[in-house]
Amino acid sequence: MVFLRLFWLTGHTLGFNGGEKNKMRIICEVCKQEAYIQKLGNYYRCRHYVGKDSKTGKAKFYYHQQSKDYAETQIAIIKKQENIKQQPIEQS
Ligand SMILES: [Zn+2]
Repeated sequence: MVFLRLFWLTGHTLGFNGGEKNKMRIICEVCKQEAYIQKLGNYYRCRHYVGKDSKTGKAKFYYHQQSKDYAETQIAIIKKQENIKQQPIEQS
């Protein structure tokens, strides 16, 4: 139970609870293209958009699994960059 709660807290803190505004893009470890990172239980994957299905009109995606170390490093880098952006820029 403690284990599950930890996962929930981690997901919540990283903003992986499905809201569009919490989406984060990283460079995919597999194909080196930018994609949305998703966390599912204890593993990460990148979601690549392919296009819309001509019959159903639904968006189609393919996924590349990311190693935990890689994904967490990329997320840390992005979070750091966001913190820098949020700081006021001094005019010189
Ligand atoms: Zn990929």
